[in-house]
Parts: sequence; C-alpha cells; structure tokens
Amino acid sequence: MEYKELGKSGMKIPVLGLGTWGIGGLSSRNTQRDDEDLRALRLGLELEMRFIDTAEMYSGGHSEELVAKAVKPEREKVFIATKVSPEHLRHDDVIKACESSLKRLETNYIDLYQVHWPNPSIPISETMKAMEHLVAEGKTRHIGVSNFSVQQTREAQQALSKSSLASNQVEYSLLDRSIEPNLLTYADKENITIIAYTPIAKGRISEGGRGERWQILDQITSKYNKTRTQVALNWLIAKKPVVAIPKAGSLDHVRENAGAVGWQMSKTDHEMLSEAFR
Ligand code: NAP
Repeated sequence: MEYKELGKSGMKIPVLGLGTWGIGGLSSRNTQRDDEDLRALRLGLELEMRFIDTAEMYSGGHSEELVAKAVKPEREKVFIATKVSPEHLRHDDVIKACESSLKRLETNYIDLYQVHWPNPSIPISETMKAMEHLVAEGKTRHIGVSNFSVQQTREAQQALSKSSLASNQVEYSLLDRSIEPNLLTYADKENITIIAYTPIAKGRISEGGRGERWQILDQITSKYNKTRTQVALNWLIAKKPVVAIPKAGSLDHVRENAGAVGWQMSKTDHEMLSEAFR
C-alpha cells in the first residue's frame, strides 16, 4: 500500500480505502448478504486498504455495524471515517449523532468525522464548534467535510479555531472531472485531502465504451498490463491531494482494485488520459 498525509495532520492514510454505500442492504436485512459484505471488507483490509468510509445514513446505520465487525479485533490498525447527516448539524445533534455512530462502530473514537452534506439553514460555525468539542473529548481525531464547494470549504476552515480541516469528500473520477477547475486546485494549495467518491463511476469505467477516449484508456491498460478500473484509480491517486474509496462487494473486484496501487504510469500517459477524458 501507499500512504499520503491526511490534510496537514501529520497522519498517513492509505491512498485507497473501502467504500461502504449499500452494504448491509438499503431497505432490508439479510444475514447471508451481510456475511458476503463482511468477507469483502475483510479481504480489503488484508490487502492493506486499511481505510473504511461509512456514514450514519448508510443502510440506516447498519453499514457502521458491519464495519465494527469487519475491523475486529484490530480496530487500532484501521482508519475509520464516518459522516454526520445534514439534518443533524445543530450543535447538540452532532454530539448525539457521534455517540450513536460510536456505539454502532463499537469503538471509542472515530478517525475522521465528516459533515456529509452542507446544510445552509444551520451555521457552519455551530457545527464546527461541536466537531471541535468531539476532538477535545477524544471521540474524533480529525474533522472533514463532504460535498462542500470551495466557498463552503473556506467557511468550514474559518469556523475551526483549534483544528485544521483535514478533508473534503467529493465525487471525482475520469468520468466526473467537475472538481478540477476550482476545488482540486484549492485543496492542493491548502493541503486539504480530497477523498474521491464514486471513483470508478459505479463500475461503468470497467465496461469501457466507444470512441477515441476509450481507445486511449485501452492502450494504456495494455501497456501496463492493468485493467481499466486499475488505470482509472491509479490516475486519480497520482494527483497529490487525492485518495480514493471504491466500493466492492465482490471479492474479485476487491482484489482488482487493490492492484491499482504499487505502480505508476508515465507523466505522458497520465496527461494523455487526462486530455482524452477532459
Ligand atoms: P464506486 O465505488 O465508483 O462503484 C461501486 C460499484 O462498482 C459497485 O457496484 C461495485 O460492484 C462496482 N465495482 C467495484 N469494483 C469494481 C471493479 N474492479 N470492476 C467493475 N466494477 C466494480 O461508487 P460508490 O459506491 O458510489 O462510491 C464509493 C464510496 O464512496 C461509497 O461506497 C461511499 O462510501 C462513498 N460515497 C460517498 C458519497 C458522499 O456523499 N460523501 C456519495 C457516494 C459515495 P460490487 O459491489 O458488485 O463489487
């Protein structure tokens, strides 16, 4: 595995983590499916993707419960990121939401606590006060946001008095480059980690397509003897502030995704791919 510093925290995190949206079932519980999801998470941890992203919102909290099972008995060796929902951003609601996540995660600290989406009706200063209280109490180690624009990120930074904002989790892949002109540049300059979600476009990148850009991607996959998904993830994590959290329920997918790390494409190939999918 390769590691990058989380924001300005001095702490290193794996460049590839494990997404968990949809694990534990979106609308119903099923023990057999839970066992399969657990196997996939545990394989990901064995392959050193020791960074799991979840949220109180995912599967009504059941995703967090499965994460707790997956990391046992080595919780200390895994970087756990979870999120507080936008309807819980009032000061006391943040504290309550965190306590509930800690219970479901069966841990006494969260490594990275993220505001899942901005909520314009609640001042960010109120939310961040609660986040800093949680850090002071040792219940969370780092503070992040998700789906924040440059302006919202700046406001979140300014609302923190004792901590620095570690990360912003946003959609980013070869097929969605919308953060590049503004947020990516800003994060790079401010040393804020970008956690790229939906980094393989929900599996669509693996399917390829017609047209020159897909031909270029396929040339690069052949040259490095990698798959389209591996090249797409490698392209993302080659960017300085970026780490990625693909979700994979299938064991083959987990193994394949782990193979996105440990090699580098040339600068020319990286630029050619950027240009092709611009
Ligand atoms: P994703 O990771 O781009 O794609 C997941 C899909 O791709 C799954 O259907 C998976 O299938 C498939 N897949 C995985 N590896 C593959 C491979 N090697 N080849 C082909 N298909 C593959 O999308 P995502 O789940 O939306 O995003 C990842 C994570 O980001 C989420 O799980 C969540 O933790 C986070 N996220 C955060 C937000 C936010 O608002 N902060 C929003 C969306 C997502 P199998 O499961 O069958 O293997």
